[in-house]
Amino acid sequence: MKPNKPWYQVPLAEIPRMIGSDVQNGLTQEEAATRRQKYGKNQLAEAEKIPLYVVFMNQFKDFMVGVLVVATILSFFLGEYLDAIAIIAIIFLNGVLGFIQEAKAERSLNALKDMAAPMARVIRNGNLDMIPATLLVPGDLILLEAGDRVPADMRLINANRLEIEESTLTGESIAVMKTANVIESTGAVPLGDQKNLAFMGTMVAGGTGRGIAIEIGMSTEIGKIAHLINQADKIETPLQIKLEQLGKTLVWIALLLTIFVIVAGVWHGQELMTMFLSGVSLAVAAIPEGLPAIVTVALALGVQRMIKRNAIVRKLPSVETLGCASVICSDKTGTLTENKMTVTHLWHSGKSFDVTGNGYEPNGEITWQGKSIKATIDQGLTQICQIAEKCNNAKLVNAQQKERSKLILSKNISTWNVIGDPTEGALLSLAYKALKEGKKQGDPTIRIDELPFDSERKMMSVVEQFPDGKTELLTKGAVEALLMNSSHIYWQGEIIPLTNEHRIEVAKQTEEMAGRALRVLGFAYRSLPNYKSGENSSILETNLTFLGMVGMIDPPRQEVKSAIQLCRQAGIKTVMITGDHKITAEAIGRQIGLMPGGNSHVLEGATIDEMTEEELMQTVEKVYVYARVSPEHKLRIVKALQNCGHIVAMTGDGVNDAPAIKASDIGIAMGITGTDVTKEAASLVLRDDNFTTIVSAVEEGRNIYDNIRKFIRYLLASNVGEILVMFFAMLMGLPLPLLPIQILWVNLVTDGLPAMALGIDPSEGDTMRHKPRKKHENIFARGLGWKIISRGFLIGTMTLGAFIVAYYENPNDLTHAQTVAFATLVLAQLIHVFDCRSEHSVFHRNPFSNKFLVWAVLSSMALVLVVIYWDVMQPIFKTTSLSLRDWALIFVAAGIPTFVAGMGGVLRSSQPKEAYKAN
Ligand code: ATP
Repeated sequence: MKPNKPWYQVPLAEIPRMIGSDVQNGLTQEEAATRRQKYGKNQLAEAEKIPLYVVFMNQFKDFMVGVLVVATILSFFLGEYLDAIAIIAIIFLNGVLGFIQEAKAERSLNALKDMAAPMARVIRNGNLDMIPATLLVPGDLILLEAGDRVPADMRLINANRLEIEESTLTGESIAVMKTANVIESTGAVPLGDQKNLAFMGTMVAGGTGRGIAIEIGMSTEIGKIAHLINQADKIETPLQIKLEQLGKTLVWIALLLTIFVIVAGVWHGQELMTMFLSGVSLAVAAIPEGLPAIVTVALALGVQRMIKRNAIVRKLPSVETLGCASVICSDKTGTLTENKMTVTHLWHSGKSFDVTGNGYEPNGEITWQGKSIKATIDQGLTQICQIAEKCNNAKLVNAQQKERSKLILSKNISTWNVIGDPTEGALLSLAYKALKEGKKQGDPTIRIDELPFDSERKMMSVVEQFPDGKTELLTKGAVEALLMNSSHIYWQGEIIPLTNEHRIEVAKQTEEMAGRALRVLGFAYRSLPNYKSGENSSILETNLTFLGMVGMIDPPRQEVKSAIQLCRQAGIKTVMITGDHKITAEAIGRQIGLMPGGNSHVLEGATIDEMTEEELMQTVEKVYVYARVSPEHKLRIVKALQNCGHIVAMTGDGVNDAPAIKASDIGIAMGITGTDVTKEAASLVLRDDNFTTIVSAVEEGRNIYDNIRKFIRYLLASNVGEILVMFFAMLMGLPLPLLPIQILWVNLVTDGLPAMALGIDPSEGDTMRHKPRKKHENIFARGLGWKIISRGFLIGTMTLGAFIVAYYENPNDLTHAQTVAFATLVLAQLIHVFDCRSEHSVFHRNPFSNKFLVWAVLSSMALVLVVIYWDVMQPIFKTTSLSLRDWALIFVAAGIPTFVAGMGGVLRSSQPKEAYKAN
């Protein structure tokens, strides 16, 4: 199959034979399957993953754990065999727990990578399909358009103003204009000049093209250079970095206290080795090195919940920023609306027509004053419908066809659906309704050029050659854009110069349709008797003859209205940014309740052009709808909002949206309609393109942050409690209230499962009822620091109190008093975990609503009972069985911290209070 000369020297005519494929219909599915077996997946090999045993060993890298191991080994040689073995076993169990957590986080983050994998448009069996790029095989017929990442090395067989930016390969950032023509050169042609080839990993900057895959995976040019995709460096979120720093500070504090505990213990006559082991165990238990890892777990679990709600996180730090979003800038079409378009109105030559039919189904008719008419009786009407059909790259398919090609993304089960741009799908449907008879007579044309749609020109044109040899430019697009470039109008059978009256009439009709929330699209054409290929749009799309326009409905998504309300309640402003007509945008805005109190302030792109940055900054707060904007306006809007102190979430789909998406705090790309470029620039991809998914993601983002606060509070308060028991006991010259092995056991049973369960705690219900938090808010803000210290203090003093009571009741039985302290400390922490679920008070929510937490607490409790009552464990843990009376004491002491704190919360919340304010 490989040619005996470079691919760029292979003439077009030889390609089908060379690759054993059909350049019209592509490969058959069967052939593609056979080739997949032969050539494997179209992907670059990944760098080797860190082996699991290394991840496991890393759990023991910690300095204090090392000290503990050495100390334990020492105590082993001093004859404390049982102790030493038990401590090592606990350290090992702790490591296993950390390993499981890390592996779980890693797994869910890896799953994310797979979900963000790019798709490719391929023709097989003559049908256009969207398949994961990894499934492409050599010989596949692939379509390219602006914003695509080229999915394989390809020999182009057609290039329409196709420009590809190849900097990943050549370092050259200026896009190369591609061609399908053979390169006849005897010498080697450098990569950058192989203009009839497109290379995997490069980016389509403009135009369209199609080509045949000649190399895939590691055989591609990028595969040869890159060899391996370097695993993306682990990106840490700002919170993780901050917690790591905090961890380092806490290490020093804990070390100092530990040293004090050891010194004070020895001073009061305790054995040096016992005190040393106790101190080091305390340090190991109390230093929260595991915190960043648990944050990763909470982030990863949250990210999985987001996937379930159709939001795919591409950049982990954005999960934190999501909770801070104060403005969501959303596209209209497809995000706020359904993107299921149907032409319902048509205006031409001073007459208004209606179009019947449902969805994309090509059945229906054009009516005028209630009577069905044939489009073919009116030359102008026929022309509009012909342009609708020919200036079009979409395809309509019915459900059965779709069922067969399972790889198509959309899940819609309506009878007819569109592959491609829904606006064009609606126009195709119109053309089929109108030209059923016209088609039989046929006007088969040959497309000889295409000026693809872009959101700057707001037009698309094709140059078509008709059977009689005439060449015409057929154009469709925004009505103002067409009128600006039109010199004539088709008016009641004649082509006459376009007058001001015509312009006023067309504008009036457009506004009338737009006022009914219809998307309006105009049609025009131009004869091109002396067409020269390669001329650009500013020359070709002029002197047009305006024909008329259509209006299509695109109903708002039903769920959007309540989602916008929810945002408002959550202190988040929703803004619509659209390329559509001002009046259409405003009408849709009203339908979805975008403007509070119905007050609209709509800003158009043209007005933005006239504003300075300052003026725009002063205006953005008042604006809810931006209409007729192009991508660079989006960038200015993002910056103006950010300068006003907002945290901006911005959606986008087109190739030119990438700069605005990158500049925003949370860039959001559309999973279905978005280009690869926008997806790569974005931090969040919406699988369903739906606005409500953004709101769910924000809610999840807030929830994840809240949960992180919950377990930070839990872990740190527990640690403070553990340190204080020992610290105060040594200060008071009491015997050791807890033995090293007991401290380690407390740490194991309380830090593991309950903390994890807090990481997946359901929200408190008011997540979306308060303002967004400030981006640089300290994690300990809003009373968290105080809660940690006060609860920690209470847990510590109550545990010590229980120990003192038990010890003075029976001073000869230290084991008994230590067992009481051990049980009190564990129970106090396990009760306190329920307090951590609420920012208000433990009585604020049903303590049992997090089933995982209930099970985690019960199993932790069981693990404590095992070491207290099982006679095999008693000598190891130096415990003794407790009586009911002991348990009464333990329950009271362990319950007090949470009860007191809870009552404080109740009292506070019964006082009139200000609305929540984030710092
Ligand atoms: P949003 O940004 O909300 O998705 P939009 O889809 O309406 O908005 P654009 O895609 O930029 O924005 O379209 C702007 C205008 O360009 C439309 O109002 C329409 O008049 C015109 N237009 C849209 N799609 C096409 C197309 N395929 N061919 C020609 N003109 C189009």
